[in-house]
Amino acid sequence: MSDSPLFPPLTGQISAADLRFDREHLWHPYSSMTEPAQVWPVASASGTTLTLADGRRLIDGMSSWWCAVHGYNHPRLNAALAQQCAAMSHVMFGGLTHEPAIALAQRLVALTAMDKVFLADSGSVAVEVAIKMALQYQQARGKPGKQRILALERGYHGDTLGAMSVCDPTRGMHQLFAGVLPQQLFVPAPQVRFGEQWDACDIEPLQQMLAAHHDEIAALIVEPVVQGAGGMRFYHPQYLREARALCDQYDVLLIADEIATGFGRTGKLFACEWAGIGADILCLGKALTGGYMTLAATLTTSAVAETISRGAAGCFMHGPTFMANPLACRVACESIDLLLESDWAAQVSRLQRGLSQGLAVARTLDGVADVRVLGAIGVVEMERPVNMKLLQPACVDRGIWVRPFGTLLYVMPPFVMTDDDLADLTAAMVDALACGAF
Ligand code: PMP
Repeated sequence: MSDSPLFPPLTGQISAADLRFDREHLWHPYSSMTEPAQVWPVASASGTTLTLADGRRLIDGMSSWWCAVHGYNHPRLNAALAQQCAAMSHVMFGGLTHEPAIALAQRLVALTAMDKVFLADSGSVAVEVAIKMALQYQQARGKPGKQRILALERGYHGDTLGAMSVCDPTRGMHQLFAGVLPQQLFVPAPQVRFGEQWDACDIEPLQQMLAAHHDEIAALIVEPVVQGAGGMRFYHPQYLREARALCDQYDVLLIADEIATGFGRTGKLFACEWAGIGADILCLGKALTGGYMTLAATLTTSAVAETISRGAAGCFMHGPTFMANPLACRVACESIDLLLESDWAAQVSRLQRGLSQGLAVARTLDGVADVRVLGAIGVVEMERPVNMKLLQPACVDRGIWVRPFGTLLYVMPPFVMTDDDLADLTAAMVDALACGAF
């Protein structure tokens, strides 16, 4: 409770005046300040339920954008944070180190077979760090001409300038920031879907691009197997295998952005495992802390890290204020332990079955272009962009929390969701669409 004389203490309640203040002063993601979209005040979150300020309870289909894999208000994650808070909430990481950071790095090194860990504060920053690592690596090898990043169309890697520059060039924010964003190179998105017969033609654009431009390319960045915010597309792991081989052939680093796919979401602990490949630089985030705190990691191999360290700068040039925040690192350790102690793979395949069963009927609905499921990700793609002003309230009215975008109504529930809640979640999604709320 605040004891400031200027402001009333926080009460856990949200008044109509508070909501007006929110509309007038608070940016929400991708929001307008002149025509703010509706937001629902949430009072608490526990397990897989969000409780709104008016008492309504919603089944959470989003895991707060891929993060809350264990559900909310988890006793072990709460206890880890409280303990760490009592010991040390934050200290600078320049010149100091601490157990939570070391313990987290030990876990990440053991799980990924990568060797060097950079702890950043968000997914987008982890991508910036990955790009800078690739550029410093090529400079240090005496190849300063290799300074462009090759990316896939339909990709999404974050909202900061460097990350935006490797997002889909037509559907992303390139036009808005034309002339400012670094000019990167792009190849068409993989077309062969996960589970389909592989077709070698799919890799040809990448092969041709690398053959023609490898002298100027520092790294290829991909979201392994699942292209998330760029369209929720699931592509064939053979694409990754071929991409890995081409990167080796053309002396280009491979950056795997597993910020969304990491920690079990696709049915493998990391999506690169579908292809049996390793990256040179790996970005993790989102579910890293079980959704409790903002934290991300950029990992790399000894070879890349040592080359960077021998370069002109003599070090890697990045060091944010909140690097390796102890609270975030401590809760990340607990979240990883919780995941590994659980039968997460069985949980994810249970969710995959439930999503497949529950969403199948959507295929018969007017306006639905495709239904697809991989691991604990369920997607209904519509023929046209959905009307958020209709669909979002229709879902809330049916007791579920989802956040559609573009043509997509999709869910990635916490791994601990019960079969009954999952059946209710998918039934409500289908019902909202069947009632034409799009
Ligand atoms: N990469 C991928 C694959 C993502 O899905 C996201 C977030 N949706 C990001 C990067 C950026 O992460 P953050 O929002 O934490 O900056």
